[in-house]
Amino acid sequence: MALPTKATHQQTRVHNERLVVRTLYDLGPISRAEVARLTGLTRTTVSDVVTTLLDDGVVREIGRGPSSGGKAPILLEVDDDARLVVGLDLGEEHFAGSLVNLRGDIRRTVELAVDGRDGDAALALVFDLLDRLLDGTTAPLLGIGIGTPGLVDSRTGTIRRAVNLDWRDLPLGEIVAERYTVPVNVANDSQAAALAEYTYAGGDRVPNLIAIRVGRGVGAGLILRGALFQGDGSGAGEIGHVVVDDDGALCRCGRTGCLETVAGMRAIEARAASVTGRPTDLAAVRTALEAGEAWATAIADDAGGALGRAIAGLIGALDVRRIVLLGPVTDLGQAWLSAVRREATSRALALLADDIEIAVARPTTNVVIRGASALLVARELGLSLVR
Ligand SMILES: [Zn+2]
Repeated sequence: MALPTKATHQQTRVHNERLVVRTLYDLGPISRAEVARLTGLTRTTVSDVVTTLLDDGVVREIGRGPSSGGKAPILLEVDDDARLVVGLDLGEEHFAGSLVNLRGDIRRTVELAVDGRDGDAALALVFDLLDRLLDGTTAPLLGIGIGTPGLVDSRTGTIRRAVNLDWRDLPLGEIVAERYTVPVNVANDSQAAALAEYTYAGGDRVPNLIAIRVGRGVGAGLILRGALFQGDGSGAGEIGHVVVDDDGALCRCGRTGCLETVAGMRAIEARAASVTGRPTDLAAVRTALEAGEAWATAIADDAGGALGRAIAGLIGALDVRRIVLLGPVTDLGQAWLSAVRREATSRALALLADDIEIAVARPTTNVVIRGASALLVARELGLSLVR
């Protein structure tokens, strides 16, 4: 076993740089002297680090602050637009990507329809999306954060299995990093969404929450004690391919009756089409729901109910009170949400169920993109993208 060795100069420099950037990011604008006081670094070290950061453009001087006797100190802050980050969401019928600055503000968004692509064709679409996003950008790119469906080894960025995109053991992180020569972080989409819900909750933040994405696939991301919980093999929250109906429909994973085959978007649309006799998308189901059509109510009730039963299991195992729902299926609205709540609360232990809060994410858009970029920025700069 290798013993830890003394930090190299390079490691110390990176550590100090991160410390100074984080201090300025969280507490700026402040002076060099204040940075030294807050971090415990010497003034000389802070001065050296700041010189590098000014040269890199990450930090800027914004004039003088109030004097406390002598010469008024120069104030420093992080330039939020000094670096851009790409956040990708590969979880739905559209691959979506945004350019995000260091505060998580979205600067540009591109969406491309998947149109049933999978395997290599889906990978080519990821490149197309990134090329379009990066075309003509001027600020340096800090890195690319990807939220993807499926089982992801987030350490290596390899997708072990993404059923709906037919990806198996795809080293997505490595491939993208090689092509764009920037750091890449790959995370499961529901896990990225959970992180975004936690990060951006502001004053409403709670230490435990479950974010569940219901769309093409169904997956949960777990935040426990303020941190993403990934389980033994990064697969924590992969509820979409748990069998809920032994006599159910064939799933793309090869089994029958997975939660996705009852509660997922394609299952809902397929069942609606079998009733109406023509292709019927989610929007059409919603319209029918609003018109009070019985078939639509029955579908929303069954799909929401199946999800609610899965949530009851999560509540029983984890006693997490806040459940946030996101993804296209949440557009079905109140009839669907009521079924989710009814089944989740009526099947969990009453004492636990009393305090459960099941709600649709606000806003519902960009949650995965924001989470994926937040993960990348946290990894590369040690910053938490919160105002
Ligand atoms: Zn399945």
